[in-house]
Amino acid sequence: MSALNPLLEIDLGALCGNYRRLAGACPNAAAAAVVKCDAYGLGAAAVGRALHAREGCRTFFVAYSEEGAALRQAIGPDAEIFVFNGPFPEFIGAYRAHRLTPVLNTIEQARLWASDMSDARAAVHLDTGMHRLGMPPDEIAALGSIKGLNIAVAMSHLACASDPAHDMNARQLRAFAEAAQQFPGARKSFSSSGGALIGKDYGFDMVRLGVGLYGVNPHDAGPSISEPVARLTASVIQTHRLRKGETVGYGATFTAARDSRLATVSLGYGDGYPRAGSNRGVALLGGARVPIAGRVSMDLIVLDVTEAPQPLKIGDRAEFFGPLLSIDDAASACGTIGYELLTGVGGLARPRGGLGGRVERRYLWNGALADPSLAGDEGT
Ligand SMILES: *Cc1c(COP(=O)(O)O)cnc(C)c1O
Repeated sequence: MSALNPLLEIDLGALCGNYRRLAGACPNAAAAAVVKCDAYGLGAAAVGRALHAREGCRTFFVAYSEEGAALRQAIGPDAEIFVFNGPFPEFIGAYRAHRLTPVLNTIEQARLWASDMSDARAAVHLDTGMHRLGMPPDEIAALGSIKGLNIAVAMSHLACASDPAHDMNARQLRAFAEAAQQFPGARKSFSSSGGALIGKDYGFDMVRLGVGLYGVNPHDAGPSISEPVARLTASVIQTHRLRKGETVGYGATFTAARDSRLATVSLGYGDGYPRAGSNRGVALLGGARVPIAGRVSMDLIVLDVTEAPQPLKIGDRAEFFGPLLSIDDAASACGTIGYELLTGVGGLARPRGGLGGRVERRYLWNGALADPSLAGDEGT
């Protein structure tokens, strides 16, 4: 049974290659890894261990303190783990227990942190125009009146890093350079993957690399610096012949324009593959690019394999993204972005042989099975 489950293969060697390439774009900046959302669905424990053990990465960012606690368990004591969402009273204990460093987004968070900790080491998030998290300039000045705060990092975040030509980038850069002057002793961190690729002046002291590590192009257009890391495949479990005029799937939304061949594969929106891929998503089968015919259902997708090499066998695997079909192309065919496709599918994956979702996760190192010291229980 498990041989027919969708499979998410994750190449930790390719991940490390992407880390080196992205870090190389801003050679004077330290390269931190953003592993929120279970490392964009690829598994924060294995990703964290690979970057820590093989690349010497010692700075990580997560969104929640719970994610930080799990990462601490996986990578050990000698790395700094920052938590983007910042401290809330009910979670202060977790920061202490797992030595997590908060990103302070509001004055209230700054007061809470300073009142609770003897060495209140923290990052501070300066809002330079995105208006999502962080303190606007007038609040930043008030930080000076809070006793005991130890601001180690001053950071901000770009709203338009995926579009290097957007004029908001330069405006935020100027705003950050100015606001960060209020923290002369702090390291400065401004850019995500996309920002790090805009230019060296976007690097400051530390870049925060996320999506580019995981094989998604950090920019909306142009060639990608990132090599594929994840490959999603699903098995053919039935084939059909369709006569011109017959229909496929729920709602009968696909009508064959010619006599056709179909292959039904075991993957669906219940596995995180977007239903928006109905009648527009694509896969690769036997080297041919084959379109999704009809609606994506919960457990199943039907592919129009008329153009694929025949015969197809039960158990043949279609690639939905991977080395041969970029996650960027696969996502854009479904009307979404690589971030969402990866976190959607990866978020529902389970360790191979373990419990959880139906997509099995398997770790590789440059094509071969990854060392268990990296893959952990999620093995192999
Ligand atoms: C998610 C996130 C990042 C990483 O962004 P990518 O585009 O995935 O590289 C960096 N900084 C902040 C504040 C984030 O929320």
